[in-house]
Parts: sequence; structure tokens; C-alpha cells
Amino acid sequence: MAKRTKLSAVLQGRCPQCREGRLFISKAYNLKKFLLMKKECDACGARFEKEPRFFDGAMYISYAMSVGLFLVSAFIINYTIEEANENTYLIAIITEVILLYPLMYRYSRVFFLYSFGGFKYTPKQNN
Ligand SMILES: [Zn+2]
Repeated sequence: MAKRTKLSAVLQGRCPQCREGRLFISKAYNLKKFLLMKKECDACGARFEKEPRFFDGAMYISYAMSVGLFLVSAFIINYTIEEANENTYLIAIITEVILLYPLMYRYSRVFFLYSFGGFKYTPKQNN
């Protein structure tokens, strides 16, 4: 079976070790459960939380993603809406943050785990 590329594993929220098991319990927009993450991989058993409060560092990645979103939004508003005032920016950015929160929460954890989780990907041999 062909293994996922690292990029597709990141985008699908898969285990950094085997790229098969899912990191999260539910879909991103299941609003009751989107925060819940599995403790270990269903496929290979790798523990995702390396130490207590490991994912606190994902806040910095989430912050960087938010700042990037603000900058892109401000740029687009500035060049597309001629009579934009500060309320236009505020409403657009608050709406985007609320709508994209589940994705930003998840991808900040996925990026943090792939960056600092200490996993080394070694595909299994078929023999
Ligand atoms: Zn795994």
C-alpha cells in the first residue's frame, strides 16, 4: 500500500509516525467534539502528547496563523473595498476567526506535533 506523503498526512491530521491513524476524534466542524484529540495512534500506538501540557506550545503557532490571517484579510479589504472603515476590518476579521477557529486549533496542534513531536518516519517493510 502506498504511504501518504508528509504533506497529505499533515493536511489530513494523521499520525506523524505511521501516517495512518487519525489525531482527532471527530471532523473539524463537529462543534461538540472538534477539540478532542486521541491520546495515542490507533494504528501504531504512538503517544501524541509527549509530556503533560505538551500542546501548550501550539498556542504560538495558532497566534502566528491568526496574525497571518489578519494581514491577508487587511490586505484584501484594503485593495478590494474602497470605502472600508475600521468596522469593516473588525467585522471581517472577527468573522474569519470564529469561522476558522476549529481549523486553526487543529492545524496549530498538527504543525506543533510534526515540528516538535520527535517522530521519525520509517515506513514498514513488506517481508
Ligand atoms: Zn501511528
